[in-house]
Amino acid sequence: MRPEILFPLFAPVSTLKGVGPRVAPLLERVAGPIVRDVAFLKPHSLVRRTPAVLSAARDGEIMTFELMIEEHQRPRANSQPWRIRASDPTGWITLVFFGRFADALEKRHPVGARRIVSGKVNDDKFGRQMVHPDYMADPDKAEEIPEIEPIYPATEGLLARRVRTFVLEALERAPELPEWQDPAFLARERFPAWREALARMHSPESEADLSPLSPHLRRLAYDELLAHQLALAQRKAARRREPAAKIAPSEVAARVQSDLPFAFTGAQSRALADIRADFASGERMSRLIQGDVGSGKTVVAMCAMADVAAGGGQTALMAPTEILARQHYETISGPLSDHGVGVVLLTGRDKGKARAEKLMRLGSGEAAVAVGTHALFQDDVAFQKLQLVVIDEQHRFGVAERQRLQAKGDAVHLMAMSATPIPRTLELTVYGDLDVSRIDEKPPGRTPVATRAVPMPRMGEVVQRLRDVVAGGAQAFWICPLVSESEVSDLAAAEMRALALKKLLPSVGLVHGKMSGPEKDAVMADFADGKLSVLVATTVVEVGVNVPNATIMVIEQAERFGLAQLHQLRGRVGRGARESACVLLYDPPLSETAQQRLDILRRTDDGFLIAEKDLELRGGGDALGLRQSGFPDYVFADPFAHRDLIATAGDDARLIVSRDAELASARGKALQILQELFDWKAGLALRDAG
Ligand code: ADP
Ligand code: MG
Repeated sequence: MRPEILFPLFAPVSTLKGVGPRVAPLLERVAGPIVRDVAFLKPHSLVRRTPAVLSAARDGEIMTFELMIEEHQRPRANSQPWRIRASDPTGWITLVFFGRFADALEKRHPVGARRIVSGKVNDDKFGRQMVHPDYMADPDKAEEIPEIEPIYPATEGLLARRVRTFVLEALERAPELPEWQDPAFLARERFPAWREALARMHSPESEADLSPLSPHLRRLAYDELLAHQLALAQRKAARRREPAAKIAPSEVAARVQSDLPFAFTGAQSRALADIRADFASGERMSRLIQGDVGSGKTVVAMCAMADVAAGGGQTALMAPTEILARQHYETISGPLSDHGVGVVLLTGRDKGKARAEKLMRLGSGEAAVAVGTHALFQDDVAFQKLQLVVIDEQHRFGVAERQRLQAKGDAVHLMAMSATPIPRTLELTVYGDLDVSRIDEKPPGRTPVATRAVPMPRMGEVVQRLRDVVAGGAQAFWICPLVSESEVSDLAAAEMRALALKKLLPSVGLVHGKMSGPEKDAVMADFADGKLSVLVATTVVEVGVNVPNATIMVIEQAERFGLAQLHQLRGRVGRGARESACVLLYDPPLSETAQQRLDILRRTDDGFLIAEKDLELRGGGDALGLRQSGFPDYVFADPFAHRDLIATAGDDARLIVSRDAELASARGKALQILQELFDWKAGLALRDAG
């Protein structure tokens, strides 16, 4: 239940003075639906209203002048603005006002009066203008104009200065709250109290006060991170408290493993040992296995499934697409069934008698492993004794879907697999409620993918080379970028590219995000079967798709992609014995950062290192790439500037939960208010119900 003290902050924005039915949706768009969101809105810059002379005016800047009113030019038609000519000893400017003013402007600012005028300078074909100055004050009342003013995000129909008045009112509604941070920590970090930090954010005294490194912004970021980490730690602890079946390492798994034509890498062995420790604990496992595509996650999962099967239990392995499910099935069914572990593949294609038979094998427990897609959690799919759920690329599934699958057993162990690399520093923010095992070592004997950056004007050479390679029997991916916000034009670009390539190359296929699942699967399957030599795709190409014969990956406008994404795309080639290449086409000239980013990709094949470097280079700026990897939408916390706070918040949260799981102590009660303030719990319940 929300504590009463927070009620004013959780009221809708329409309760703020001046926010009527027209403004409310605009303010919601800028800040959010409740007063708290307005109070939390960060100014993005500062203006200083220090007077300058007109000869020093710069187009587009907010500047302040002391002017003499020279002439009023009344509009001759209603559609025209009211203009005031004004000057200082160094030049002229026209002040422009839209709307009906009758004589009000002339009365307020008579010819011959002096005014301090502040606003945005606009030099264009009409000369030097200022449209709707922010301030026009008598020099005697110059103090009415704030010396320094923070600027807030605005939107069409809602000016930044208007936003500021709402922000200040929202701030007034923010109460003093009991301190939830440890006083020694506050002193060490020189953090102000919460209310003070918030107030400081809205009255910056210099640019330094806008920096995410300023103590008040670090304090707010830390509060936010701690609230989130607490929710994650509580959920993890709750899951642990649910008793689950103990599963012992088995002879079957040992034989399955020793039958493989290769030995596990050290990282694979460690991951399996982690899983077995969870299995032995009697607590419910929630473990994420993170590792690049091809790092050998699936075979580790296979050994865990063998342990489960040996103890009489069952496993469901769920993949996001049919083609991935099929590939998993092909990887594991042979080795497992050789040792008496029955595996069925269940996808949307199974119908009628064949499907009924598979369901019977699962229901009777005769098959110990089910590999499949969404088809796995249909109501009529029943297991005899489901003990382990393995989810590949879990962010691709909705919560309800995962829940339905897990509900088919009791306190089912959960294992997630992800090939989306996350910088180590951010791991806690994305997977704070899971235990993580990293497979950071590649199986030996892989030839690295030769990676080259090629400017667009030389695309002809790339196509020529592609012809040779395809003539030699190899296959290629051709990835088209997100051209713009609009998916339609992305699609158009990909369609055009496919059309152009069709004229130059044999059997070109196209797959894009607007196609239905089965349509996509059909094209992917044609490519996997070698019926297509080139596959043009928007970025929908499934992570993990294994087409060993594909040796070329061309990525158009590579500079627009996040590094982690480029790395994943590249991971789709270099899976066979043949040498592979990745061509990064770019629009010259490249910025220095873009150059550095593409360089990193050329130099290393380590997904974790790439993710780390990417974060460093972007300075946390590119939210899109991060969001794709599951990074939460924080208000204050910045993934780069506040990365040092993440680990501290994680440690702090775990310590608190271990001592005071119910948050019943005095500090605990204050922490409950913090949690409500940021409302993470509700968000988490939606994010993952594993
Ligand atoms: P992931 O699931 O991480 O993408 P997989 O488990 O599917 O990776 O393994 C990718 C390929 O590498 C498979 O063909 C698998 O047989 C092979 N493989 C896995 N582990 C090793 C290893 N230790 N040594 C050699 N090959 C391996
Ligand atoms: Mg895989």
